[in-house]
Amino acid sequence: MDVSRLLDSLNDKQRQAVAAPSTDMLVLAGAGSGKTRVLVHRMAWLMEVEGISPYGILAVTFTNKAAREMRSRVESLMHSSLQGMWIGTFHGLAHRLLRTHYQEAGLPENFQILDSDDQHRLIRRVLKALNLDEKHWSPKHIQWYINGNKDEGLRPRHMETHGDATQARMKEIYQAYQDTCDRSGLVDFAELLLRAHELWVNNPRILQHYQQRFRAVLVDEFQDTNNIQYAWLRLLACESNNMMIVGDDDQSIYGWRGANVDNIQHFLRDFDGATTIRLEQNYRSTGKILKAANAVIENNSSRLGKELWTEGSEGEPISLYAGFNELDEARFIVAQIRQWHEKGGALSDCAVLYRNNAQSRVLEEGMLHEGLAYRIYGGLRFFERQEIKDALGYLRMVNQPLDDAAFERVVNTPSRGIGERTLEQIREVAKSTEQSMWQSAFLMLREKRLSGRAAKALQGFVDLVIRLQEETPSLSLDQQADHVIKASGLFAMYQAEKGEKAQARIENLEELVTACKQFEVPEEAENMTPLSAFLAHASLEAGETQADSHQDAVQMMTMHSAKGLEFPLVVIAGVEEGMFPSQMSNEEPGRLEEERRLCYVGMTRAMEKLYITYAESRRLYGQDKFHTPSRFIREIPSDCLEEIRLRKTQVSRPVQNRFQPATSHTAFESTGFQLGQRVMHPKFGEGTVLNYEGSGEHARVQVNFADIGSKWLVLAYARLSPC
Ligand code: ATP
Ligand code: MG
Repeated sequence: MDVSRLLDSLNDKQRQAVAAPSTDMLVLAGAGSGKTRVLVHRMAWLMEVEGISPYGILAVTFTNKAAREMRSRVESLMHSSLQGMWIGTFHGLAHRLLRTHYQEAGLPENFQILDSDDQHRLIRRVLKALNLDEKHWSPKHIQWYINGNKDEGLRPRHMETHGDATQARMKEIYQAYQDTCDRSGLVDFAELLLRAHELWVNNPRILQHYQQRFRAVLVDEFQDTNNIQYAWLRLLACESNNMMIVGDDDQSIYGWRGANVDNIQHFLRDFDGATTIRLEQNYRSTGKILKAANAVIENNSSRLGKELWTEGSEGEPISLYAGFNELDEARFIVAQIRQWHEKGGALSDCAVLYRNNAQSRVLEEGMLHEGLAYRIYGGLRFFERQEIKDALGYLRMVNQPLDDAAFERVVNTPSRGIGERTLEQIREVAKSTEQSMWQSAFLMLREKRLSGRAAKALQGFVDLVIRLQEETPSLSLDQQADHVIKASGLFAMYQAEKGEKAQARIENLEELVTACKQFEVPEEAENMTPLSAFLAHASLEAGETQADSHQDAVQMMTMHSAKGLEFPLVVIAGVEEGMFPSQMSNEEPGRLEEERRLCYVGMTRAMEKLYITYAESRRLYGQDKFHTPSRFIREIPSDCLEEIRLRKTQVSRPVQNRFQPATSHTAFESTGFQLGQRVMHPKFGEGTVLNYEGSGEHARVQVNFADIGSKWLVLAYARLSPC
């Protein structure tokens, strides 16, 4: 049997892992050391050498994309298709199991999966049925509570309330929610895992069947498994004596979602006699990138400890760029990618990584402006996000209330007791009178066609929109957005929710205010109000088709979504204190170390070239923030870092010293001004150049004046002079 092709492309340690005799094994190794590669080769080895059929292998990984990739890599090593092999995510595999054994799992044959939005809606219905006010019982918080308990394997009957009324009520809601799910044949994500576990606990014969069937169990990204996932694996694999887990404690980044890195230790405890193999050679990144990543992660205290080295070239140092503001930062990034592309590099080899989804907007606009195709990976484009569409819905109602889509979107968001029946009636009236829903609502209220409660709720919405219409015209566009987001109750609704996702929604809403502030009515929309022009801009941008997966496009994603991936060129943007590490990490113990691991994940995605950028001032969530560079930058050894500095010094103010214009600034430079420059205006006095657009006689600059704040001026008329 020729197995050399399974081993030839591996180093000694990797070979040892791939060709080990049947045993439990932990491969603990840093980023880019070939863990996923080992896993794939081990699967091929087990089939080819150990004679295990594809039917006898179960492999788990973190995303569907990774699962597909793993399957295709094994198939190409084996030169055959792998019918019968179970390869997927924990959720996917649990689902498959429950479909097969729905009766034993106590589910109807056609049970449906509830996604996170559906689950949220259902919780709201349950609260209503229990007569509980959403203001006090935030549906998001309850969702978090239910899922968190399920992740720990806890049913309502396991919950201890210790005589605490709130706890007792939470338990009651959990129970009522679960009863509703059970009655309707609905299974949420966390339930998939919990039920799959219970299926085995309660049905030893089924468990035994799978224990005998799966002679090998392999898990990638093990450091991010949660407790119920681990318990499930343990039941399955304890007997098989052939479990391989691969992971990296330094890349554990889902602690906030219940992942438990201690599972690595639990594995060594529970799988007595398991072999540990450490891989230390990195094949992904250049020497400098690797040295920098190692140095950063060394600042964490609780580590299992490992060091990575490479035989590859030293490579270029990491380039550090200090943007004057976030727009300048985006311009710089776009210019670097353009340069790479012009030299023949593929756009899809470039990744722009950031901490929060809200950061993508400015970067997206930079890409659009320069005509670079991009793809947001693992997330929605800014203007397509739920909360942004909600806010735009209100703005659209203010702008033009006959907009039925906007009406439908916001009439009961946040919930104000307008039920589906009332809406159905409004739709019918709208249809029969050929009017908009807004007009129909008026008609129904005037003719008192609704019950007292429904009428009151609908009147509340109508009054709100009218009030907003009256209050907003005198405000600037960003004030309008801010006012509408707050007065509509949207802001409060998301604020009352718990968890990282709700926080991200709040940040996005604040970011929308910033987008309004930065918005300039384009020439072709001069006769429109700023609000109409902005709404048109938002829908056009949302409608712009995202580059499809086959098109060459820059990959943009959060660092969380970048796990396991690699790219020749990587930019990490927004590396500032308060952004990354995030503000929250100062408040919760353990959080800072998790942020640092995320930084390690981000840096180690880069193969050839890494850029790290930050902005000295950032308009964030509607406010100007002056952040200092992230501590993670200081943790990088200076010989690995090259600061991109000024090409020419113009003025001695400190703010400019760090600024180096991106290539596309040349047209602006020819005007004799620079971003960040101090200037004097005969009427407005002294100020700082914040931004610019256009060229030649159309060039306009935005100047922040000490006395009157920021103003856009046409350069040709402004009589500005340097000071
Ligand atoms: P991460 O922790 O980021 O998931 P990993 O440890 O899973 O990383 P892989 O993705 O398996 O690492 O490998 C990183 C890169 O190194 C891949 O491009 C892989 O093909 C390559 N590689 C791994 N081992 C070798 C080897 N022995 N020879 C050549 N290239 C290798
Ligand atoms: Mg991997």
